[in-house]
Amino acid sequence: MKLLIKQGTVVDPTGGLKGKMDFLLEDGRIKCIGSELYEPRAQVLNAEGCCVAPGLVDMHVHLRDPGFTDKEDIITGTAAAARGGFTSIACMANTRPVADSPEIIQYIRDKAHRQGSGTLVWPVAALSVGEKGQEMTDFRALKEAGAVALSDDGVPVMNANLMRDALLKAARAGLPILCHEEDRDMVQNYAVHEGRVSRQLGIHGRPAIAEEIMIMRDAMLAEETGQPVHICHISTEKGVAIVRRYKKRGVKITCETCPQYFTLTHEQVLLQGSLARVNPPLRPTRDRDAILEGLVDGTIDCIVTDHAPHTASEKALPLTEAPSGMVGLETSLALSLTRLYHTGLMSLEQVIQRMSTNPAKLLGLSKGWIGIGADADLTIFDPNESWVIDPVQFRSKGRNTPFAGTRVKGRVKYTIVGGRIIFADEGERCSMPM
Ligand SMILES: [Zn+2]
Repeated sequence: MKLLIKQGTVVDPTGGLKGKMDFLLEDGRIKCIGSELYEPRAQVLNAEGCCVAPGLVDMHVHLRDPGFTDKEDIITGTAAAARGGFTSIACMANTRPVADSPEIIQYIRDKAHRQGSGTLVWPVAALSVGEKGQEMTDFRALKEAGAVALSDDGVPVMNANLMRDALLKAARAGLPILCHEEDRDMVQNYAVHEGRVSRQLGIHGRPAIAEEIMIMRDAMLAEETGQPVHICHISTEKGVAIVRRYKKRGVKITCETCPQYFTLTHEQVLLQGSLARVNPPLRPTRDRDAILEGLVDGTIDCIVTDHAPHTASEKALPLTEAPSGMVGLETSLALSLTRLYHTGLMSLEQVIQRMSTNPAKLLGLSKGWIGIGADADLTIFDPNESWVIDPVQFRSKGRNTPFAGTRVKGRVKYTIVGGRIIFADEGERCSMPM
């Protein structure tokens, strides 16, 4: 099958491609890029007014399958990913059973392959058996089964000795470790950031230091072992400062953040209660501004969603009882473009680098670039289309977003994996001239 994309504006974070181009996709790869391509046997897709970027890669998604399929499953989760422009996603291991065995990794891959939307699913395996933080899983066997990284995400690894051993062993197995950084004793099961809002509500909070102390520990372990660590969903000013400092010293440390941390502050909890509950929690303005700075100067390598669907009844519980997390797959690109590109803080290339190129590289995937011979995984979006986020339209089972009713600018038009269109926006053609 051949697909010819006409007149799309290329967004190329790695090479020098610029301007309006045609792209011929054949046999799962980009066969040709040029200004006036012609191929009579190809399906033609008009991308006038749209950007053509390497497919988005989200390295932090909770698909909830197996075990919590009332919240989400692999079918709905990958459908949401396709609608959000994601051609590859990595799914976290805190399922039931926990993805700590080759069998569960295999189950996820098989189901995604057979019943998924076409978005490629790359499983993250648990670092410790049952995510209990005591005994390491079999890294090699998990890698052979198809795991691309290791993480006990959701359950911070409190045992520093285990983390140290795991870093050494993971490096030998060729798997990156992704760290959810919150000291469990300091955060307990508290709902919000410890500060003005928690005091106003008269409830316990999760202090920033709980995250920073763990980032510091793992930065030091990375330096001492010489092995890479990746910090998940960074949310505080000092956390960003630690990563910046250790990067400057040549330590192999990388990190990610999510749209909620560069868009919202803890004040949102006063407006939306449980819907604004997430781990780590939304922080004060200073922290949010530091996240923006870290994104702009490259300290923060990746934008991920931490897509964490929950049922409506779970999120209807009072703030202190509701589960933490928000969905993100179907709003991430629009929120990122609105907050980072349309404000002039970052170029389109910089945004796509953090949403595609860098996460692909960290996971060791041959994705995240555009050029002749590259995998034909592409995201086509209209950077200027304005729309209002409406959770009713979501393909995810989860409707738990604090962004309902928010006007955003930038909309996914087509998602293409292996040269095949896996999502097309109903409006079809791109609407606005750039
Ligand atoms: Zn996490």
